[in-house]
Amino acid sequence: MFLGHYGLAFGAKKAAPKVSLLTLFFAVEFVDILWPFLLLLDVEKVNIRPGFTEVTPFEFVHYPYTHSLVMGVVWGLLCGVIYWLFQKDMRGAMIVGLAVLSHWFLDLVVHIPDLPLTISGDTKLGFGMWNSLPMTVLTESILFIAGVWIYVKNTRAINAKGKWGLFALIVFFIIAELFNTFGPPPENSIPALLGSFVVLQAIVLGLAYVTDRNRVVG
Ligand SMILES: [Zn+2]
Repeated sequence: MFLGHYGLAFGAKKAAPKVSLLTLFFAVEFVDILWPFLLLLDVEKVNIRPGFTEVTPFEFVHYPYTHSLVMGVVWGLLCGVIYWLFQKDMRGAMIVGLAVLSHWFLDLVVHIPDLPLTISGDTKLGFGMWNSLPMTVLTESILFIAGVWIYVKNTRAINAKGKWGLFALIVFFIIAELFNTFGPPPENSIPALLGSFVVLQAIVLGLAYVTDRNRVVG
């Protein structure tokens, strides 16, 4: 899942108005941000096989440290505690922790049964929506549009940066989604994969930071 995670982050701003959109984006994508680094270290494993599912060419062979339910809980607790240590905002800390954990549950909808429950167990889950491109695009779009709508309803721009930053962010997401869906499959090289992830995250997090700093809640 891609856009759906960000939809949830946009929407979470209503539940935790003090938490920056940058932090919420980081939280919902925390395990995916970790993932290419663990691939590079050979701790987790992926195969890139174009046509593996209708939507994604990734065959997730082994990724229990980022994508097991147990580690989702662990990362969620860790991120929540770190947020609390820095901000002393209990509500915000809980939302950050839940946002990290939400990644597993949203991935559950689209992944084929490759999401482990524990680090070493054999049970793997996934409802397999990635076998249908129209269903995936529809579901991701609904989550994304709903989240953006909640964010727009609950915040307002205090200057041009707040307005156009959000506009640029949405346009960037649409371009990235189109590229993901209809563009060429990623290069079959982990360093190239890591490089494209870093660029994508830098743009998304940078725009989220500028946007949220120039908008106020209410
Ligand atoms: Zn994921």
